[in-house]
Amino acid sequence: MIKTDIVIIGSGIAALSVANTLCKNGRKVTILTKSLKTSSNSNLAQGGISVALSENDNFNMHYDDTLEAGCYFNNSESVMTLVSNAPEIIMDFINSGMRFDTDEKGNLLFGKEGAHHINRIIHAGGDRTGQMVMKELFSQLNENVTINENEMVLELRVKNNECGGVVTRDEDGNINRYEANYTILATGGIGQLYPCTSNDITITGDGLAMAYRAGLELSALEFVQFHPTMLNINGKTMGLVSEAVRGDGGILVNQDGVRIMEGVHKLKDLAPRDVVSRAVYDRYLSGESIYLDISNIYGFSERFPYVSEICERNGVDLSKNLIPVRPGAHFHMGGIKAKPTGETSVDGLYAIGEAACTGVHGANRLASNSLLEGLVFGKLTADNIMSSERIAPSFEFEEADAEIDRLPSKNEIQKKMMKFIGIVRYRNKIPEIIKWFESFIPAGVDKPFGRVNLEKTTNQQMEIYNMITTGYLIAKAAFERSESLGAHYIIDKE
Ligand SMILES: Cc1cc2nc3c(=O)[nH]c(=O)nc-3n(C[C@H](O)[C@H](O)[C@H](O)COP(=O)(O)OP(=O)(O)OC[C@H]3O[C@@H](n4cnc5c(N)ncnc54)[C@H](O)[C@@H]3O)c2cc1C
Repeated sequence: MIKTDIVIIGSGIAALSVANTLCKNGRKVTILTKSLKTSSNSNLAQGGISVALSENDNFNMHYDDTLEAGCYFNNSESVMTLVSNAPEIIMDFINSGMRFDTDEKGNLLFGKEGAHHINRIIHAGGDRTGQMVMKELFSQLNENVTINENEMVLELRVKNNECGGVVTRDEDGNINRYEANYTILATGGIGQLYPCTSNDITITGDGLAMAYRAGLELSALEFVQFHPTMLNINGKTMGLVSEAVRGDGGILVNQDGVRIMEGVHKLKDLAPRDVVSRAVYDRYLSGESIYLDISNIYGFSERFPYVSEICERNGVDLSKNLIPVRPGAHFHMGGIKAKPTGETSVDGLYAIGEAACTGVHGANRLASNSLLEGLVFGKLTADNIMSSERIAPSFEFEEADAEIDRLPSKNEIQKKMMKFIGIVRYRNKIPEIIKWFESFIPAGVDKPFGRVNLEKTTNQQMEIYNMITTGYLIAKAAFERSESLGAHYIIDKE
């Protein structure tokens, strides 16, 4: 048994935000991450961070936009906690060394994205915000932090509603058991459940599946956000084209140059993401080719160096001003039910970032609110932990005997999820995918997709087991919500 004070699962923005505050206050932190420490959605983020710092803005306006985009399904207290703490936390981050893009006088530049009624997105390195923010956060960690790369967390050690740490497999194949006073789950979303996604390859819903097996409360799982503009090369997704491109004047057109958002929504190309995604998807399904027309954007390559790079790498000639796009899975609004201060329904177990559901995003996330969520709720969770005292309960954690007998391929799961739980869902078809998932439930588990024997399961099998568990839970939640709301667009019958 490895004894430690605080274990954090994942190495994205939420993990590093909480780790930074804890380590600067002398707390020992062990970060366990399943691949390289830079493998995360946070590192891929482009557009920026929304924060009410401009002269004409205030956090009440940010609050209103967050609720409107979330279809008022948000937890309004969580939203207020986010937007009201944001200006001070971001200013502290800037004062500690983070450099966001500024004009020649040193004033922050504010970009615009969908469903924001004002320019309030700060960015770094043009459209390399995630990379720059993560670089800064990594550089601020001190000697109190140990980062174990290629160590996948397999299970949470939870008994009688108390968490006592985690079980992992390290890069040498050893199963490790950690006893921790505090366990913080920051495993991100579920994008890899879909064939077209902006998400990092490691984002397979592990945290949700582990939390479900450990009996935690989950919430709002049916709400999966699709981003309208993934770079589309011959039907394959080759990365994201940030919404900031539309914020700066990019326009969605079809192969004949017809604007596709005209008459669809009053905000046109900057309508909420679910609206734009459905419009693009409808056209795509009917055989049209959709492009982002960037001819209105002056100095595109300087403002969007990362998007320019992925376009050039994939043979898109930017001098023609047309970038081929299609929608893809991007963000999960649902997750492990948690407070903005990280507490979940299990004592000693905290959930933060995209893996958590504090209700802050409602039925549809407002653009650029999730890096912010990681920074702000990460900090509040660290403060919360520092103001409490907890010693890991010492208990025998009985590991399961059940064995996985058969699993589908990742490809099969992704295709089924897109077909049944995609941008448009047909309610009468959903039982078909639920039944399909159920056909993989191993014999002898304590509940559908319950715990299995870890020694006899490889990491690759566990990842797929986590994907089918999460897919099954999302499908069940989607079936239960019979009315369309935000990103959950459901039609009674096909
Ligand atoms: C291409 C792209 C662009 C985006 N642009 C923006 C933007 O401009 N602004 C914005 O606000 N949001 C943006 N988002 C969303 C935002 O980046 C994410 O919601 C946010 O970074 C999530 O942070 P996180 O710390 O919760 O999770 P992540 O950054 O995804 O980190 C999760 C970590 O957990 C690790 N992990 C997962 N499972 C396990 C396991 N079993 N064991 C150990 N480790 C595990 C992963 O490897 C990863 O390191 C974007 C997302 C993408 C994909």
